Amino acid sequence: MQEPKTYINTDIDYERDGKQVSYLRLPYSRNTSAWGIIPIPIAVVRNGVGPTVLLTAGNHGDEYEGQITLNNLIRTLEPGHIQGRVIILPALNFPAAMAGRRVSPLDGLNLNRVFPGDPDGTPTRQIADYVTNVILPMIDGFLDLHSGGYSMDFIHTAILYRQNTPALMQRAIEAARAWGFPFCLVLDDLGERRTIDALCRDRGLLKRLHQPAPIMRVTEIVGPESYLFATSSAIFEPNFHLGSEVSKGEIAGWFHYIDEITRDPSPLRFATNGIVAGCRAPGRVAAGDLVAVVVCDMRS
Ligand SMILES: [Zn+2]
Repeated sequence: MQEPKTYINTDIDYERDGKQVSYLRLPYSRNTSAWGIIPIPIAVVRNGVGPTVLLTAGNHGDEYEGQITLNNLIRTLEPGHIQGRVIILPALNFPAAMAGRRVSPLDGLNLNRVFPGDPDGTPTRQIADYVTNVILPMIDGFLDLHSGGYSMDFIHTAILYRQNTPALMQRAIEAARAWGFPFCLVLDDLGERRTIDALCRDRGLLKRLHQPAPIMRVTEIVGPESYLFATSSAIFEPNFHLGSEVSKGEIAGWFHYIDEITRDPSPLRFATNGIVAGCRAPGRVAAGDLVAVVVCDMRS
């Protein structure tokens, strides 16, 4: 098989047994570092023949929970714990992770909107290309850890894209159950094809995980009414908590106009029944900011 084109190199040998912790080196010549690289941390733990699982975090640099989790895992996971191979990339968009920002400060790009990437593109596009063409062909299962980052907060939930067949959908839900979250959220990509999730879904990438099945509420986003956007630029005072059961027409919160002292607060109402699975974190909102995500129990 022809080697995929990439400028990223590494001293990691993906076929070697044992534990390796090193970097993917992305050449990045800039004013402050003529022959510099971007060192993207990677760990590979392998023990003989078995499935390969990819674990990533820091796809969005301001989502720190997954980065902590995978750094802890790198320090503690040993080959004797597994049969097969685990590839861990705890800060996938490393420049964004170091800046604590959702998108890369180098090219302003959101890694999860540039898949499948480009080997000749900017750093973020090159990272996406390496994952697509070097790593994904090796793997059987994949977990990409996200959280709310700077602007949002979420209930503890596995998130799945709606799969192409009922059988694959069922396998995806079973795999999500193994993680022990109280919720599982199924959503459509709403036409967004550039995420790593969409790429994996289109390649049918999923493996059954053999784990006990804790209680998990399987929910879904059914349409645009699930996304509640701010209609004013103001301070938003929510009238709900994460996990609240809400009804269509109920007041979701109020917009407060601190720059117009005599103006009364104006209400924002939920457009559908369900559970609040996600909400905006900062109080200040602009028109068009997402303030709540309302999900409902999956119908089929
Ligand atoms: Zn994210």
